[in-house]
Amino acid sequence: MEPKKSTVSVLGEEYTIHYLNPEDDATLNHCQGYTDESTHEIVVRRDIADRDDPMNVSDWAAIRKATTRHEIVHAFFFESGLGCESDYAQNEELVDWIARQGPKLYRAWAEAGAL
Ligand SMILES: [Zn+2]
Repeated sequence: MEPKKSTVSVLGEEYTIHYLNPEDDATLNHCQGYTDESTHEIVVRRDIADRDDPMNVSDWAAIRKATTRHEIVHAFFFESGLGCESDYAQNEELVDWIARQGPKLYRAWAEAGAL
């Protein structure tokens, strides 16, 4: 079952996550997801309906999760006061590194008893 909507607490602010497609939200024609700090909303592309689309991949659930992690990192930076005035908080490479390596960092911290 594909998720349609959920919420997540980001430093005390509730963000609503919407799983949509470009026909629902045209911004998704240009990106996999985005975070709107003004409305506390995260939008993540749900999937690609057309299996012949060259952008399609085999495991959309994995892409959707990685995109959701990426957008949650943006939300944490926003709620920390690190918005458009912060170069590193807006650095997509850094945000994506955290999103991709976060689960491995968490596992390493847990394995070391450091949580
Ligand atoms: Zn980003």
